[in-house]
Amino acid sequence: MTERTRIRRLPQKAVDDRAVLYSILDLALIAHVAIVDDGQPYALPVGCARDGDQLLLHGSKASRLFKTLSSGVPCCATITLLDGLVMARSAFESSMHYRSAMVLGSCVELAGEEKKEALEKITQHFLPGRVAELRKSTDNEFKATSVITLALVEYSVKVSNGEPDDLVEDLSSPIWAGIVPMTHLWGTPRSAANLAEGITPPAYLANWPTGRA
Ligand SMILES: Cc1cc2nc3c(=O)[nH]c(=O)nc-3n(C[C@H](O)[C@H](O)[C@H](O)COP(=O)(O)OP(=O)(O)OC[C@H]3O[C@@H](n4cnc5c(N)ncnc54)[C@H](O)[C@@H]3O)c2cc1C
Repeated sequence: MTERTRIRRLPQKAVDDRAVLYSILDLALIAHVAIVDDGQPYALPVGCARDGDQLLLHGSKASRLFKTLSSGVPCCATITLLDGLVMARSAFESSMHYRSAMVLGSCVELAGEEKKEALEKITQHFLPGRVAELRKSTDNEFKATSVITLALVEYSVKVSNGEPDDLVEDLSSPIWAGIVPMTHLWGTPRSAANLAEGITPPAYLANWPTGRA
């Protein structure tokens, strides 16, 4: 933790544990990455994956975000897992359960074999089990894609998982209070409209978390 990543507001929610950072990143599919372009901040959602102590991001070479990030300017990535709603007896005290991380730094663009391996790791993170059966990427697809890493060096982690924090005078009110947890599950796969006949969903989808029995 640095002075820039020291959590000041509700510091009791700060978690100084790299393992918790990793556990958040390993569940997350999206990071919001912020850059400043011509004095204007832009925060954009992009897919993300963790590789050791690096956050991997990939996108179009034509994207302003990726061109800017590749130039090595300072950036900020935030990763949020929403875990539930905290229903207090007042709107003021109602809040959310979450695990969130913020990473500050500058990105480095990957090339060659490192880029290829990183792309496989990103695909494996998003589509576990699918890399082996996918058609190989073409040279043009490879060239059109920018892959960058952000080192997990300067970061903060904030976790909110407490009870409703109502005023003492509100505790005797007849209003229900509690937590409504949120879980993230995959639904039933739907075959593409243009899928050739006889092809069924791959077996590895059974390993993805679902709400189905
Ligand atoms: C899903 C979700 C919903 C939220 N809703 C609200 C809301 O409605 N209103 C509200 O005021 N706040 C909300 N927060 C908390 C919010 O993200 C900030 O932590 C809070 O507003 C304090 O901001 P600050 O600038 O005073 O932070 P400070 O504590 O001054 O920030 C200092 C440093 O702490 C770290 N930090 C701060 N917040 C976070 C974070 N969330 N995750 C990781 N590192 C962090 C950063 O490194 C930052 O540079 C929410 C958080 C999440 C994840």
